[in-house]
Amino acid sequence: MVAIDRNRIVEAIHQAELRTSGEIRVSVSRPFWGNVRNAAEKAFARMGMRETKARNGVLIFVVPSRRKFVVLGDAGIHEKVGQDFWDRVVHSIAENFRSGNFTEGLVSGIFTIGEQLATHFPYDPATDIDELPNRID
Ligand code: CA
Ligand code: CA
Repeated sequence: MVAIDRNRIVEAIHQAELRTSGEIRVSVSRPFWGNVRNAAEKAFARMGMRETKARNGVLIFVVPSRRKFVVLGDAGIHEKVGQDFWDRVVHSIAENFRSGNFTEGLVSGIFTIGEQLATHFPYDPATDIDELPNRID
């Protein structure tokens, strides 16, 4: 089993969601040999990622045993951000994953998502609710 510091991930999601109304989730998969993107898309649907009001959920789907991951965003985000957004997020995760630093990679990816979503989906303390749980799937 690959060591991932779950508490740090949950805390990073909490902090990121204090900057944006966007909802971030992380799913850590058991080892499998199928197509990672397909599995990520299934998880996206299963985890209710399409059920936020502003359609601004982002999922980081991770297969630690293969050092692979996929980042998926909902329709509201795709309307607002360009490829540059996804490139930055992937870049901030990938470098750490290559050296096996999964926790660092995820924390860094979550930070980058929060920072960039804040522009398009600002946080409003008066109305914000935690639409999707911060715990790891
Ligand atoms: Ca929220
Ligand atoms: Ca949340």
